[in-house]
Amino acid sequence: LIEVSGLKKGFSGQDVLTDVSFTVKRGDVIAVIGPSGAGKSTMLRCLIDLEKVDGGSIVVEGEPFVTDGVYPPAAKVRAITAKMGMVFQSFNLFPHLSVRKNLTMPLVKTQGVAREEADARAMSILGKVGLQDKVDAMPSTLSGGQKQRVAIARALMLNPDIMLFDEPTSALDPQLTAEVLGVMRKLAEEGMTMVVVTHEMSFARDVANKILFMCDGEIVESGPPEEVFGNPKDRRMAEFFGNVS
Ligand code: ATP
Ligand code: MG
Repeated sequence: LIEVSGLKKGFSGQDVLTDVSFTVKRGDVIAVIGPSGAGKSTMLRCLIDLEKVDGGSIVVEGEPFVTDGVYPPAAKVRAITAKMGMVFQSFNLFPHLSVRKNLTMPLVKTQGVAREEADARAMSILGKVGLQDKVDAMPSTLSGGQKQRVAIARALMLNPDIMLFDEPTSALDPQLTAEVLGVMRKLAEEGMTMVVVTHEMSFARDVANKILFMCDGEIVESGPPEEVFGNPKDRRMAEFFGNVS
């Protein structure tokens, strides 16, 4: 579904991604773990075109999105990134819009979907994340876990083939974290393809079918969780586990 090879990205002369390669297959749930500053967020941002890469290639569903650092026309890039939804650590809801409008506005404004159809879709997706009763609420009246579930619902409105999550629970206390992880687990069980940057090792272990361990702008170890957690080969990964567990 996604093929990433030799991705490179620097900020003002400092290399952040040195050589990132991996593949995502349909139905994969990939957990990306690694120390702070490893380049995990930057890698996700490159995947959805919030950052331009300096080199390397990304192919999404057979469509080249960047080839050796060269991008096709912007409209083509937008068509490809439209297949992906992203959820951030900090929710990023529109504060002045109700939950309903947060969900329907992108659909109505950018895709010209009829309001009634968008509203019906919003109700059905809010049902999935357990928040139908909050459809008329303003974001400021929601808990962090509810906000994050609305953010997930908003990403699902555009019917993505792939969902990207950047530490979706790291701003939440344990109980709210469990709510959000529950929604993500359900999505995974329904077959959604997901790439999740997370510090939740139990989620990585139980839900992901593949772990990518990133360090110093590279993926230094990857494999199924039982392999990677059971027997880390790279010294940096062993050290990382020593610190988090
Ligand atoms: P964390 O676990 O703390 O979220 P991360 O693995 O997501 O870390 P990134 O946010 O990708 O790490 O950052 C990797 C490096 O890139 C850091 O050294 C950071 O300072 C740098 N960086 C990220 N974004 C920018 C930017 N827009 N401009 C300059 N430097 C940046
Ligand atoms: Mg990050």
